[in-house]
Amino acid sequence: MFNVVIFGPPGSGKGTQSLKIKEKYGLIHLSTGDVLRDEIKSGSELGKEISRRIDDGNFVPDEMIQEMVIKFILSNKDGQGFILDGFPRTTSQAEWLDNRLAEINQELTLFLSLEVSEEELKQRILSRGKFSGREDDRNEEIIETRIRNYHKKTKPVIEFYKQQLKFTEVNGIGTKDEIFSKVCNVLDNVKVQTV
Ligand code: ADP
Repeated sequence: MFNVVIFGPPGSGKGTQSLKIKEKYGLIHLSTGDVLRDEIKSGSELGKEISRRIDDGNFVPDEMIQEMVIKFILSNKDGQGFILDGFPRTTSQAEWLDNRLAEINQELTLFLSLEVSEEELKQRILSRGKFSGREDDRNEEIIETRIRNYHKKTKPVIEFYKQQLKFTEVNGIGTKDEIFSKVCNVLDNVKVQTV
């Protein structure tokens, strides 16, 4: 199994790189943000509740996200492995993930973090907001809230995986293909060691 988390602040390019990784390495991909946005689009009551939280730049409750993640992991547990994008976003989600994986005799192989400067992040998100239709991409105040939440709640996840020696960092500045080639270098190296 080759189980990867792609990590980084909002706008760091996790989604873009995940799709390329999925294609090249035959992994299955879960973007928690995409699933939440699909639920919003469906117009359901749950979607409305999700929308109230994420449109302001806040997180949805752990239980809601964890239910989505465990369904995904269990329904694909006999595949080649997965790539998680948007999860774990807090250390409690990271601990939960470790425990659930251990229950099915699996573990995370690699935690890959994309590094991008704050100024660049804001510019990227604002320009994405012009055509993405994402409410949370349009307003500078909401973007600030997301970046603040990232520093306060999400960044500590890095320490959690550093302690497990699973943390690797890739510079997320450059063209999509340039970044992908650095990502592939890391993945290929780890793959050789785990096969
Ligand atoms: P970004 O990384 O650009 O913020 P995502 O698509 O990953 O975008 O997430 C969009 C929003 O979905 C987040 O701001 C958050 O409100 C919610 N979300 C996604 N994943 C999680 C998670 N693991 N825990 C809590 N909320 C989440």
